[in-house]
Amino acid sequence: MTSTVASRTETDAGPALRHSDTVARVLLAVIAAGAAAVLLLWWNDTGTIIGAAQWITNGARLCGLLAGYTAPVLVLLMSRIPLLDRTLGTDRLARWHAMGGRYMVGLVASHVTLIIWGYSLTDDSNVVHQTTQIVFHYPDMLKATCGTLLLFTVAAVSARAARRRLRYETWYYLHLATYVSIFLVFFHQLSNGDEFLRDQAARACWYTLYLGAAAVILCFRFALPARDALRHRLRVAEVRTEAPGVVSVFVTGRHLDELVARTRPGQFFRWRFLVPGLAWAANPYSLSAPPNDGYLRLTVKERGGHSGALAALRPGTRVLAEGPYGAFTAARRSRPKVLLLAGGVGITPLRALFETLPAEPGDLTLVYRASRAEDLVFREELDTVAAARGATVHYLVGTRAEIGEPLQTRTLLGLLPDLREHDVYLCGPAGLVATAREALDTAGVPARRIHHESFEF
Ligand SMILES: Cc1cc2nc3c(=O)[nH]c(=O)nc-3n(C[C@H](O)[C@H](O)[C@H](O)COP(=O)(O)OP(=O)(O)OC[C@H]3O[C@@H](n4cnc5c(N)ncnc54)[C@H](O)[C@@H]3O)c2cc1C
Repeated sequence: MTSTVASRTETDAGPALRHSDTVARVLLAVIAAGAAAVLLLWWNDTGTIIGAAQWITNGARLCGLLAGYTAPVLVLLMSRIPLLDRTLGTDRLARWHAMGGRYMVGLVASHVTLIIWGYSLTDDSNVVHQTTQIVFHYPDMLKATCGTLLLFTVAAVSARAARRRLRYETWYYLHLATYVSIFLVFFHQLSNGDEFLRDQAARACWYTLYLGAAAVILCFRFALPARDALRHRLRVAEVRTEAPGVVSVFVTGRHLDELVARTRPGQFFRWRFLVPGLAWAANPYSLSAPPNDGYLRLTVKERGGHSGALAALRPGTRVLAEGPYGAFTAARRSRPKVLLLAGGVGITPLRALFETLPAEPGDLTLVYRASRAEDLVFREELDTVAAARGATVHYLVGTRAEIGEPLQTRTLLGLLPDLREHDVYLCGPAGLVATAREALDTAGVPARRIHHESFEF
């Protein structure tokens, strides 16, 4: 049974998925090779280890070195390098970043604990005395201690439960504090690490790694968005109410054709509206219509401060749009038949794909789930596109109390008996996505043919 699934998934992959797998493998191999080089650095600098104190201190050194290596790697994963972002997808990179972040915090905590313990044993002193000695008398250790405490604070805030209680921009800016933390911690590695004190080549490599990561961040997160802002001078053209609590913002600007040429339906931008109260936040919203030379459209459901304020935007408001980002595009698709499965405001990227995904009449289906009929947005547009393309739209409307669980395998197979032959593009609230994945799995759709855009990283 396992082999059947394996062989089916092997042959299922379209060119974009194969390319994305190759990029993922190469990237992971490069990261692993870097980690191996770090181990080698430690090995070369370490003689015979004798006694518990030395074992513990060397454990601390290893954890510290690996944590020091992980920090710039994690920063690079989120630096919005276009090749990585468009092939692997922002949400996949964010998942790797979050997982790597947990490892790094574990490594740093182990490094701190083991170093204090090891030094206490070596000096035969108590832990409190040793901690004070390390923090106040070793070079650059006060800075490193502040950086480490900052890192632990960010880690606590990033935990899922804590994050849900924070506004998006609070979480975002606190997260940026890790750059400060990495900067503060950097120097103690070079001034205390034996391998860097003795080996100038290792020192040069470490500088290159950190300065290289900083340069990539400056380029892709600051310089290129600034260049785009000057070139396109985007402005709000119109704000239109689509449904209760849902508005579309039409954005126009200069040389839009250039922006359109590098944007794919299904992608998103980080939007910053230059009005008081919104200018500090760049929130992610997908394009809800295929980009065209006249305008870019985003459609937003009120959820909190940023999304709720967009209804009050005035035409002419200046806009900065960073992007396009994401790999939720037609390139992912591997089969002629496609099901687009949307829940609530998750319709936005699927609306753009519904109009543009290449498909023969009869091969494209959109299933759109909403609790109330008035929550459905773009109904007229969707019906028009469906009629023009020979595609099908099914609206699954009603609360669970009224219609039961609408995304069961049985329901989906009722709509699409050949469901297992489809690629599925999925976007909606986390609960709906989990239910849909289960139903699709039971229906025999392989996981690699389910393409998901998360609104929640
Ligand atoms: C790639 C991507 C594309 C998106 N596209 C759209 C779109 O087309 N239309 C749309 O309406 N929304 C979209 N979103 C979601 C949208 O970005 C957020 O709802 C919005 O930024 C929330 O900001 P706020 O200030 O209104 O709410 P806040 O006050 O910041 O948050 C309100 C509540 O929602 C939670 N929350 C908000 N954003 C997130 C998040 N990203 N992850 C986890 N929890 C969160 C907060 O913790 C809080 O409890 C998208 C998100 C992503 C990541």
